[in-house]
Amino acid sequence: MFPFAARSYDFVPYVECRNWIGGEWCAAAGGEELEVINPRHGRAMGRVVVSGAEDVERAVAAARAAFPGWRATPLKDRAQVLYRLKQLMERDLEELTWLLSHENGKVYGQARGSVLKGIECVEYGASLPNIAQGTQLDVSRGINCEVTYEPLGVCAGIVPFNFPTMVPLWMLPQALVSGNTFVLKPSEQVPYGAMKLATLFAEAGLPAGVLNVVNGTRAAVEALVDHEEIRAVAFVGSTRVARLVYARGAKQGKRLLCLGGAKNHLIVAPDADPELTAETVVASSYGCAGQRCMAASVMLAVGDVQGIIDRMVARTQAMELGGDMGAIINPAAVERIVGYIDAAERAGAKVLVDGRGARVAGAPGYWVGPTILDHVTPEMPAACEEIFGPVLSIVRTPSIDDAIAIENSNPYGNAAAIFTTSGAVARYVIERVSAGMCGVNIGVPVPREPFSFGGWNQSKFGHGDVTGYDGFRFWTRPRKVTSRWEIAKDATWMS
Ligand code: NAD
Repeated sequence: MFPFAARSYDFVPYVECRNWIGGEWCAAAGGEELEVINPRHGRAMGRVVVSGAEDVERAVAAARAAFPGWRATPLKDRAQVLYRLKQLMERDLEELTWLLSHENGKVYGQARGSVLKGIECVEYGASLPNIAQGTQLDVSRGINCEVTYEPLGVCAGIVPFNFPTMVPLWMLPQALVSGNTFVLKPSEQVPYGAMKLATLFAEAGLPAGVLNVVNGTRAAVEALVDHEEIRAVAFVGSTRVARLVYARGAKQGKRLLCLGGAKNHLIVAPDADPELTAETVVASSYGCAGQRCMAASVMLAVGDVQGIIDRMVARTQAMELGGDMGAIINPAAVERIVGYIDAAERAGAKVLVDGRGARVAGAPGYWVGPTILDHVTPEMPAACEEIFGPVLSIVRTPSIDDAIAIENSNPYGNAAAIFTTSGAVARYVIERVSAGMCGVNIGVPVPREPFSFGGWNQSKFGHGDVTGYDGFRFWTRPRKVTSRWEIAKDATWMS
């Protein structure tokens, strides 16, 4: 359905993206639409409908109607849908990759990598029948207590622009295999990944109404968060909106997990392996054009690491924009990123590699080249605010303790890493950084399934993480059954 034909970066127009409700594509009630821009070309590749409360109501009604049948479907049968989905995603890997590349601006290899990561999340969901059993224990003479994990009902997920296929798959496998029905709100900037996923889920045998997709912006999000029948909401996006969604949903007593922005610090010790460190820091800073919540943003250069910085500069200068690194999502983001570079330079930072004004032949879209700022001071906005672009700020520090203090003073807490050849230094740092996902000689310390994904501090509001077993627990509630099947001879406190 709606095959996307592109197999290169050449501009290809695409269909209108509608809502997927009760197994059908439908227009939004209000009739409003937005353009979906291909960031590499700066041209509209299609349009997406903008939904309001009426559309959310319709999606929730479809999800409510589907819930009893889906909940009654055995867990093993629910998981079969994910086995089939994995095969379909592998079958359509090229299409998924090019679609993602066109709507988001990622280069081919990075788009493909994120689809493959989404498939890993599907694999984890498919494995749930093997690991999601409850527990039971005889808690007294003749008295047994049993815990089972039950679905919540209708749930919702709200996702950002930077991983259109992968981030929905942080939520859907566990939520659906657990027996919930779902309403997904993709980013209006990249709605096609979710559209393609909805068609693949349907082809994989997911009954109509179990997964619904409502497109739109703030109004759709608010209607979802306000809807009384939606039991749980997971959000991934900026800290500003994560906080709004968390506060709004909490007022209603909803279960919420809201992942926000990041400012990830990589601490480079003087004994770090120069080649591994230079390669890894550069890859972390510029993968996905720095538009990922796990990107390196600040390098805390401890003591004399000039040799490593020189290597990084050489590597960064050798990167081919448009081939090694993709486009920026929109013109406002380009302006924001360039604004941080300008401000740092004005404040005395040295621009070692300058991505401002970079262009790609034949691709008149939105670009900023990879940028390295040196001698950034901790109070400059480039050192403490989320830039969400291909800019690495190097802050020179005299000691590991100073570096840790700078990392600790930042309000975010998604990721942090240490580069060293000393186990003692690595351990010292990891025990002291204030971040949920830490790397030792790893620039993008994303925990892979079965481990869960989630930061600390203002990078996450709510309890638990979004992927892995934490995801299963978020989308379920424990039922405790205490039972007795014979009258006990002697009295217990439960008599
Ligand atoms: P965003 O917060 O602007 O948008 C996220 C979602 O919220 C979108 O679906 C959007 O339509 C909706 N939204 C936007 N403004 C809203 C408002 N005022 N009220 C209600 N809903 C609103 O984020 P983005 O620009 O799409 O994504 C980039 C951000 O996401 C970065 O800050 C990045 O660090 C973060 N991110 C975090 C993680 C993580 O795991 N912590 C993962 C990916 C991205």
